[in-house]
Amino acid sequence: MEFQTVIGLEVHVELNTKSKIFCGCSTEFGAEPNTEVCPVCLGLPGALPVLNKKVVDYAIKTGLALNCDIARYTMMDRKNYFYPDSPKNYQITQDRFPICREGNVEIELGNGEKKSIGIERIHMEDDAGKLIHNEKETFIDFNRAGVPLLEIVSKPHMNSAEEAILYVEKLRSILTCIGVSDCKMEEGSLRVDLNISVKQVESKELGVRAEIKNLNSFKFLEKAVNYERERQIKAIENNEVLFMETRRWDEKNNITLSMRNKEEAQDYRYFPEGDILEMIISEKEIEDIKSTIPELEHEKKDRFIKEYNLSNYDASVLSKDYKLAHFFEKTVKSCKDSKAAVNWIMGDISCYLNENKLELNETKLKAENLGELIKLIKDKVISSTIGKKILVNIIEEGKSPKDIVKEKGLIQNNDEKAILEMIRGILSKNQDKVKEYLEGKGNLYTWFVGQIMKESRGKANPSIVNKLLKSEIENNFK
Ligand SMILES: [Zn+2]
Repeated sequence: MEFQTVIGLEVHVELNTKSKIFCGCSTEFGAEPNTEVCPVCLGLPGALPVLNKKVVDYAIKTGLALNCDIARYTMMDRKNYFYPDSPKNYQITQDRFPICREGNVEIELGNGEKKSIGIERIHMEDDAGKLIHNEKETFIDFNRAGVPLLEIVSKPHMNSAEEAILYVEKLRSILTCIGVSDCKMEEGSLRVDLNISVKQVESKELGVRAEIKNLNSFKFLEKAVNYERERQIKAIENNEVLFMETRRWDEKNNITLSMRNKEEAQDYRYFPEGDILEMIISEKEIEDIKSTIPELEHEKKDRFIKEYNLSNYDASVLSKDYKLAHFFEKTVKSCKDSKAAVNWIMGDISCYLNENKLELNETKLKAENLGELIKLIKDKVISSTIGKKILVNIIEEGKSPKDIVKEKGLIQNNDEKAILEMIRGILSKNQDKVKEYLEGKGNLYTWFVGQIMKESRGKANPSIVNKLLKSEIENNFK
């Protein structure tokens, strides 16, 4: 039997509003436990929620960027359940009238094929607090309670771990680009619930699905998909009955474990949230928000290929990271050389960032300084070897390359007369090596170049050195 995996994802994204969804408490990550709380987000009796308008704006913005229909009428509902990290004993979310419906995003598979993944709905809700366990006790931190969330529910349109990861990456790229969330999986501002089932390829009916909660890295998402696929196939082949259930990923043993049977909607006794008014969203509001959406990744990629003549690969790497893309464009503006700019960014600068595990904005590198560096090399003021050497100073100290070059006396020597003199000196001191070279030991040529560069402390213009060294040997020693 041949099986097909069917995957739908529920992605929870924390919005980066300054204050929480129903009160004025700060949403900042990493504060002392239980310092960003008030009667509303602690669910104290009599405290009344007030909806943060920015959350609604961000939800609409997200919906527009994900090609959704935006509801003109929407409301909040109560989802009732008891869990110790939820102080109200219910969550304020959206049930029947979510703010966005019926969207899609396009992913590009490894083989270059494009696939559209449908989005069922997006709704607004509040986050729960956080339980912190040690061996003996459990602590609770309510700072996160009331942080605004969007839940983005996809259709079951994915068929592999690769597609699921591409979809989440695409969401992350779009949401960070439009500025509604930082989408940091490691800080929990983007969390993924995986719905997965398997069915026989030719069958039209979906299999029985399991939901794997709270996957907080791409690695876990990939492993959970592959593990669940195998587990479910084995169960079907052994004629076991699968039932809908909620499972969790056990990262120590690389398996999924059953938590509980999957709840049905009626278990939550949804009903309208009486403390928050229904909302009517006007055309003007939607139009105004639409005008604030910047160019998205795929649009940028196409433009980079056209406007800057970048390769498909370079354009796709740059457009994936809007900060990097912005940095690239600023650099090109300053040096007017897109090829050099992309080579530096994709080469030495990326290497530096990877090695030091840094993001571009965590360094002092400025686009104007990279532009200046490129110009200095182009104008032959310094050699590219020197350029590579001082790059670290530019990144770590934020200094202008011109100043560094001046300070360190690194200006390239383009003085042919002086270089020729240096060459002659070295050749006459090493006549035995010249002889060996002429007798066929060709690799001595680089040794000569090395000596000249050493004597000039790296400043001799390499193309002048090459030209003069060759002619000098040809003319005077043959
Ligand atoms: Zn509060």
